Amino acid sequence: MTNRPWLSSYEPEVQQRLDYPSVALTDFLLEAAEHYPNHEAVLFMGKKLSYRKLLDSAYRFANAMIHLGIRRGDRVALMLPNVPQYVIGYYGILFAGGTVVQTNPLYTERELVRHLTDSGAKTIVCLDLVYPRVKKASQSVNLNNIIVTGIQDYLPFPKNMLYPLVQKKQGAGRRLDPETENIRMFKQLMARSSPKPVRTEVDLSEDVAVLQYTGGTTGTAKGAMLTHENLVANVIQCASWIHRIRKGQETILTAVPLFHVYGMTTCMNLGIYLAARMLLVPKFEAGMLLKLIDKEKPTLFPGAPTMYVGIIHHPQLSRYNLSSIECCISGSAPLPLQVQQTFEQLTGGRLVEGYGLTEASPVTHANPIWGRRVQGSIGIPWPDTEAVIMLDNGEPAEPGEIGELLVKGPQVMKGYWNQPEETASVLKDGWLATGDMGYMDKDGYFYIVDRKKEMINASGLKVYPREIEEVLYQHPAVQEAAVIGIPDEYRGETVKAFVVLRQGQQATEQQLEQFCRERLASYKVPRVYEYRTELPKTLVGKVLRRALAEEERNLRDSR
Ligand code: AMP
Repeated sequence: MTNRPWLSSYEPEVQQRLDYPSVALTDFLLEAAEHYPNHEAVLFMGKKLSYRKLLDSAYRFANAMIHLGIRRGDRVALMLPNVPQYVIGYYGILFAGGTVVQTNPLYTERELVRHLTDSGAKTIVCLDLVYPRVKKASQSVNLNNIIVTGIQDYLPFPKNMLYPLVQKKQGAGRRLDPETENIRMFKQLMARSSPKPVRTEVDLSEDVAVLQYTGGTTGTAKGAMLTHENLVANVIQCASWIHRIRKGQETILTAVPLFHVYGMTTCMNLGIYLAARMLLVPKFEAGMLLKLIDKEKPTLFPGAPTMYVGIIHHPQLSRYNLSSIECCISGSAPLPLQVQQTFEQLTGGRLVEGYGLTEASPVTHANPIWGRRVQGSIGIPWPDTEAVIMLDNGEPAEPGEIGELLVKGPQVMKGYWNQPEETASVLKDGWLATGDMGYMDKDGYFYIVDRKKEMINASGLKVYPREIEEVLYQHPAVQEAAVIGIPDEYRGETVKAFVVLRQGQQATEQQLEQFCRERLASYKVPRVYEYRTELPKTLVGKVLRRALAEEERNLRDSR
């Protein structure tokens, strides 16, 4: 559809046609363990795992999965923050031929039921802290195996002994009895399982390695089917983009959640491909991150804009040395110029803006890291990735004209799980309609200006108005509700709800917020509420979110 005459001119060192090995994701781990067996693969709160140990653990988990009846293509949900069990579980499931179902640990019981029902996962691995929600969900959805683990399972002595005491003091966590709860403990499962090599044959372009849930363009949650081929391709593309990296010598700050496609690919899968050290950070907290950077000297730091913002504004910033950081790709949301500049001054490294989406495993564009970067642009397409701006009339746009961004490449998903219609609406002849509106300049750099999809981008976490409105509609006092995104200095965007109450009914903002909090992960809960007597509607009665967004914009402009 388009050729890309601009590509070779800006980053001469990046090859534009790459060789993609015909391997499964698990082969990256095999290779790292073969060539760098004693290199540190994972560092987590002082606990270290070498590549040899990581492979051994992944095999143990794979054998445990097979013993529990997991077969090729079976879905297994992982509901964990960034902990070693995540990496072990992920690669173990893949060795067993299973499909990893990425699950946000913040999901409420209601969200979890929907997620497990849709994916058909009958086995879940979760942290003890979220187990009560999994237990409740299991009353509505049939789960064969609940595997529970705790942070302390992978802490060095004596932290592993102290951690449960700290948790207890904070009122969190309690000792679980596997017998009465009918659960399995990760630690025991691993201890009893064999580390013998497991190799389940998979079809690299057909077998789904990961089901990654997204609202896509319509807002209905659906699983993007990412094959081994898709995920391997995005790792190879990423490595070629950074290109000044050395296998066995990088340290990756892994602060983006691994349950998000961006963290999974650019921290974990890339990390294992590079036989890098992964510094696992279970929860983003700027002060803690600064200490870790100063001490462990990461070279690569893929992140979301809010992470870089948190760091540059930290009051004790000057105490820490950040000069080990060489390269960062910021994704998930627009990167403000001032943040980029300040961060680069602080580290002496490069921070570039990239772009991607779940359906593309995820990265499709980035600014050249060592070459010409353009402020406000998402950069140029990655190697072997074609991109075009399409006008409403189905014609490709001229440079500068705004239309929808379409992308094509080896990283584009196979389709949505069990959703042929949704798949057909975004995927045609290998071209993925992103739902993002933008343009390309005459040099081939792309810009995102708006969204066709009504998604709200809160710190890179995606919120879909329809889901929030559905919850508000369940409130007995609510007659009508509409949700939009409004600008937020820290989060980029935040959620605002417009509410019409039933006649004679009352519900305060606090009550509505509490109601939402019980049913939605916290990042989805509206932070701002406005009561109206009616909402703007189309002639057929559909609430016009766009009109509300327009009103908000006008109000802001007039201030
Ligand atoms: P997700 O599927 O959760 O990864 O979200 C993908 C969406 O995030 C894209 O379709 C865009 O709307 C948004 N996004 C990602 N990167 C950027 C960026 N650099 N600038 C603006 N929006 C972005």
